[in-house]
Formats: sequence, structure tokens, C-alpha cells
Amino acid sequence: MPTSPSAPGTAVAARLDALRGPVPPRSHDARTIAALTVNPGCSRRAVLDAAGVDKRRLAERIGSPARFGQSPFAITRGLMFEKQIKADGCTQLIELLRTELAFDVPEHAYVDLGAEQSSGGTSGAAAGVVVDRASRHQRTRELFGRVAQGAAVLADHPLLTLEVAGRTAYVEPDVVALRARRTGAGAGSGAATGAGAESLGLEPSLLYIAEVKSFAVIDGQADPTKVGAAATQSAVYVLALRRLFASLGMDPDIVASDVVLVCPKDFSNKPTAHLVDVRRQIAAVSRQLDRLPRIEALVAGLDPTIDFDLAVDRQGATQDAPHPHRSAAELSKSLTMIDARYAPECVTRCELAFHCRSEARAAGSADALGRSVRDALGGIESIDEALALAAGDASAASRLSGGGRGVNGGGGRGGTDEAARLLRAAARAYDEAVDMLPRMPDSVAAGADAPFTAGHASVGTQRSNASGTADDAGVAATATPEAQS
Ligand code: SF4
Repeated sequence: MPTSPSAPGTAVAARLDALRGPVPPRSHDARTIAALTVNPGCSRRAVLDAAGVDKRRLAERIGSPARFGQSPFAITRGLMFEKQIKADGCTQLIELLRTELAFDVPEHAYVDLGAEQSSGGTSGAAAGVVVDRASRHQRTRELFGRVAQGAAVLADHPLLTLEVAGRTAYVEPDVVALRARRTGAGAGSGAATGAGAESLGLEPSLLYIAEVKSFAVIDGQADPTKVGAAATQSAVYVLALRRLFASLGMDPDIVASDVVLVCPKDFSNKPTAHLVDVRRQIAAVSRQLDRLPRIEALVAGLDPTIDFDLAVDRQGATQDAPHPHRSAAELSKSLTMIDARYAPECVTRCELAFHCRSEARAAGSADALGRSVRDALGGIESIDEALALAAGDASAASRLSGGGRGVNGGGGRGGTDEAARLLRAAARAYDEAVDMLPRMPDSVAAGADAPFTAGHASVGTQRSNASGTADDAGVAATATPEAQS
């Protein structure tokens, strides 16, 4: 495993290393950056990622393993498909650019930035030596400096950087396709530059990022969730490459905001290529990266006893049992000492989701109900409090009027008063609707098969749940649409 991202400062870097313990760091990649930007308010994830803690192993150690990720079979299949696309200097990719996307592909050089420079000055996979990240990034910079001057190059294994919460993270697109021009009708969304080309009635020549994925495109359709995830990851690459060009003093808009997505076609290994417009994702990732708190500030506020040392050794072990430096209880305690901001989206994006969800539910936190509900509650942070306000509990109202985040996080008495008024109105409307329901035969009510009845039952359970712990059915009913957004 490579070394950790560049250090923001000796003291902070040392503290992050101590948080992780004597194990190799996990590095950010486009997938983790995309996930981080989905929940920028979570300090827990920001600290763990900055320290390079293996969250999957941590979740396993505390007894809440993650339940997402690719199967080994899917990973192997994906690697084989990528190898096929990249064989012989990306021959299949070039063919797809020409035939399926109507690109005018010029003569070019193929450069593998992941392989050692040979003694003859050439580079390529044949050299077979993996280059360390700093060297690869430097070579990537030098190569794109030449591309900006007009060199026609197809770059394999480029290594880009992106600032994440004040630290430098490395990201690696599958391939950066050479500077090419579309010749067919229907300009790409990134084709807004290149005045010279436009004056000739041609599409401008842009640099395209190609992403190879193993999910199938069947009859021209792919799983929208997978396409969305690929688009967000690709947006991270586009952003990183644009920032590289900006740092070279070149126009960043040379990088197209359309990415080339290559997938297997139908049920075969035959590839197909599609252009995906990622402008919206670029804007979202860029905005969220800017909003991430600086890691220095987060680390400075941490209790000195916190650590996530996942190391296991045989010293002190009985018989052959491995001896973990930290017990599950110690690791869980450290987790609880860093603020989390659970949202249902975490379930598909963060390895610690099941631990954080249990924690949020046990605390009766409104976060467990999803962002839209939490925002609508206007600073009322607990489900207990929301239920008390809906029931017209005056003491809850006076307690909350002294604090709270306020509507839309604005804080203040006006926000919670308004939220309390809306909750009471919603409770009245609900009660009136229930009163107006035609009385069902006892046999139907007992079976509770009708979806409408079942839905009311779960909401009703929440309203009457005086313990403040969101019941599973109620949370699931509210959270599902949020989780799918
Ligand atoms: S699962 Fe937990 S640590 Fe991960 S982003 Fe959600 S709240 Fe943060």
C-alpha cells in the first residue's frame, strides 16, 4: 500500500498516523472522494479518511460489517474487461471512439504512465515495473504539459491529485483519451471552446477521460444507479485534470465535461461506448470539496485518547490466537467520541453505516429519518422531541425555544416555533384523516394486508413511540425514498 497523502503539517500528520496505528494507510480514490462529498458534514468519516483508517476492517472489528461492495467475481471480471479494452495500446478504445462516437482520432503516441521508463527512453507496460506515486504524478504533469502544447498522446495510468480537506489525495482515471474532435452531429456539452475550430464550423478538439466499467449496457440501457456512480467518479477525474491544467497555466476547459463510458454490450464481452455529460456532478463535487472542513481543525479538537489502531500481532497472544492492539469496545468508544452525521445514504456509501445507523437510532436522532425529514424538522434533533411537539407538549416547546438549529439550520426560537406549529398541524391533519377512514371489517384490519393500512400503522407506531427510538418499520418507510435519491 502506498504511503499516506501529503502531510498538511508535521503535528497533524503525526496525530493522523497515531490515530491509524502501525498499519499501512488506506488512500482516497475517486470513489471515496465522491462518497465523502455526499455527506460533507460528517466529521467522523473526514477524520478516518484523512488518517487512512481501513473503515471496512474497522466495521468488521466492531461487529457491524459493511454490506456493500463488489464480489470478487465482479472485480475479476471488471479487471479482465479493462485489460481487454487497453490491450495493444487501447486499440478497442480507439475503435469505439471512431465508430460509435464519431471522433476524428489523429495519429498519436500511447504512453503508459504506470510503467517504468525503459533505458531506451520509451515507456510501456512491457517495462513491467510499477512506478511510485510521486514519480507517476510528476510524469503525468510533464506529459500533460506537452499535451497542452499540442502533443497527441493517449495516456494510460495517469495519476492526478486533488485537495481534500486540506490534504492532497491521488486519483487515477482508467485512461485519458487523446485530444480528439467529434465529427458527427450533436456536440458534446464540453464543446464550448476552441474559437478557431468553431470559425471553421468544426467541433473544438478536447481531451476526454475514458472510464471502463464492467456493468452491462443492455439494449442501450444501463442501471441508472451505476451510471450515476460512474458519472460522479468521472467528475472527480475531470476536476482533478482541469486543476492540473490550471496549475500549468493552461486553459482547464481543454478537458471535456463529457466522459467516455465503456461497458460490455448486452450479454457479451463486446464493448460499447457512450458519452456521459458530467457537468452537474463536477459542480456538485467542486462545491462539496470547498465545503469540507479543514482536517487541521477537526484533528485539533479530538480527545487525545482516541485511536483506531487495527493492528493485530502475536505478542501476548494465547496459543495461536492473534492479539489485537485494541478491543472492539475500545474502537467503538473512540468512534463515539467523534461527531457523526448519519443519513440513510450512508448505507450504500460508507462502510460504517450500520454502526452509525444503530447509534443514531439508539439516540432517537432525527438524522436516522433522512435529510429531507431532518431539514423539515427545523433544528429539532430528536424524534422524541418531534413527537412531543406534535402532541402539543408545552414543556417540550419551551425547552426547544431556548436552542436548536432553527429552520434550515438557521437556529433561533423562530425556527423551532415554526417547526412546532407545523408538526402540530401535521398531527391534526393525520388524526382527521384517520377519523375519516371508513371502518374496515375486523378480518381485514386483523390481516393488515392493504399497503395503505400498513403504511399508517408504521407511522402511527412512531407517533406513539414514547421511548423516542425510531422503530425499524417507521424509519424504513420514511428513509427509503431518501436513500434512493
Ligand atoms: S456511516 Fe457514519 S462515518 Fe460514514 S458517513 Fe455516515 S455517519 Fe459518517
